[in-house]
Amino acid sequence: GNFVPPMRSNGGNVGNITSRVAGKGDDTLEDSTKTCLEMLCGPDGELPEKLRNLEPRLIEHVSNEIMDRDPNVRWDDIAGLEHAKKCVMEMVIWPLLRPDIFRGCRSPGKGLLLFGPPGTGKTMIGKAIAGEAKATFFYISASSLTSKWIGEGEKLVRALFGVASCRQPAVIFVDEIDSLLSQRKSEGEHESSRRLKTQFLIEMEGFDSGSEQILLIAIAPLSEHYSGATNRPQELDEAARRRLTKRLYIPLPSSEARSWIIRNLLEKDGLFKLSEEDIKGICKLTEGYSGSDMKNLVKDASIGPLRDALKQGIEITKLQKEDMRPVTLKDFENSLKEVRPSVSLNELGVYDEWNNQFGSLA
Ligand code: ADP
Repeated sequence: GNFVPPMRSNGGNVGNITSRVAGKGDDTLEDSTKTCLEMLCGPDGELPEKLRNLEPRLIEHVSNEIMDRDPNVRWDDIAGLEHAKKCVMEMVIWPLLRPDIFRGCRSPGKGLLLFGPPGTGKTMIGKAIAGEAKATFFYISASSLTSKWIGEGEKLVRALFGVASCRQPAVIFVDEIDSLLSQRKSEGEHESSRRLKTQFLIEMEGFDSGSEQILLIAIAPLSEHYSGATNRPQELDEAARRRLTKRLYIPLPSSEARSWIIRNLLEKDGLFKLSEEDIKGICKLTEGYSGSDMKNLVKDASIGPLRDALKQGIEITKLQKEDMRPVTLKDFENSLKEVRPSVSLNELGVYDEWNNQFGSLA
C-alpha cells in the first residue's frame, strides 16, 4: 500500500537525507523526492540506518526507476518450463510467503541464477515470482551499471540493496549478470568495474547470511552477443556461482510450449481458428525458435489476412473486421520467411555444456 508511482525527478544531489526528511531542509526539494524518501522513513521520521549514508538522488533513482511494485506477469502466462516453475515455487515462493516455516535447515538459498538463450521467459519468471510472492520487484541491467553509471555503479548497488532491505520481501532481478561478474584477466579489468564487482559480492554475502527476505535473481544470457567476446559461460565468477546456489537452465520452448504460445496469443485477440493439424505443422517448422521469436511470428502471421484484404483492393480506412479471413497455416509459412530464429545451434551447445557442469538438475 506504500508504493509511490514513478515520477520524474530533478536528479540532483539533494544533500543530507535526515535533515530533508525531517523537513528541516531546502523547501525547493521536489515533492516526489520528499515522498519517496519519506516513504522509507520509520515512525520516528528518520531514515533506516542502512540508507543514511547514501546519496538521496540514488535512493530516489532506485525507488522511482528500478522498483516496480506490480510487474503484472502471472504464472499462467508462461508456457512450458514446468521444472523451473516447480523449483521456483519451492525455493522462492513458499519461503517468501511462509518465512516462519522456512527457517534453520529449511532456510532457502537467497540467490537464483536463470541462464539460457535470450527470449525464453527468464524475465517473465522473475516478474511472476514477485507478483506471486507479493514482493517488491527491483529490476536492474548489470550492463547499465557499467555503461550508464560509470564510476557510480558501486554507490547505486549499495542504494539498491539498501532500499530493497527496507522494502522486504523483495526480489532483486539482475539482468545480464555475466557482464558484471565474469572472471576477467586482471590487467584488462578496469579499476571501477573491479570495485563494482566487489561491492556486488559484498552485498550478496550480506543478505545471504542474514535473515532478510531478499531474493536475488540473476539472469545470464551467457552469450557473446550480450557480453563481449571475452565472456564465456565458464568465466562466470566462481564467487558469484557460489552465491547463486540454485542455477536453472531455461531452455528454448518445447513443441508443446510453442503450440501453447500460438494458441494463447491468437485466442486473446479472438483470432484463433487453426486446426490441430495446422498447429502441429507450425510447431514442426519452428524447431529452434525462442518464446520471443514465437511471439514475433504470431504477430507477423496475424497481419497476413489484412495484407490479403488490401491486395484485393479494399482501402485500409474502409476495411471491416468481417472483410478479413482467419489466420491460416499459409500466413505462418509466409511469416517464417521473415521471422528467423534468433538463437544459433552453436550457442545452444554452450548452454548445454554449462548446464551439465553447473546447472541444478531436476
Ligand atoms: P528472457 O529469457 O530474455 O528474459 P523474456 O522473459 O523477456 O526473455 O521474454 C520475452 C518475451 O517473449 C516475453 O515478453 C513473452 O512475450 C515471450 N516469451 C518468452 N518465453 C516465453 C514463455 N516461456 N511463455 C510465454 N511467452 C514467452
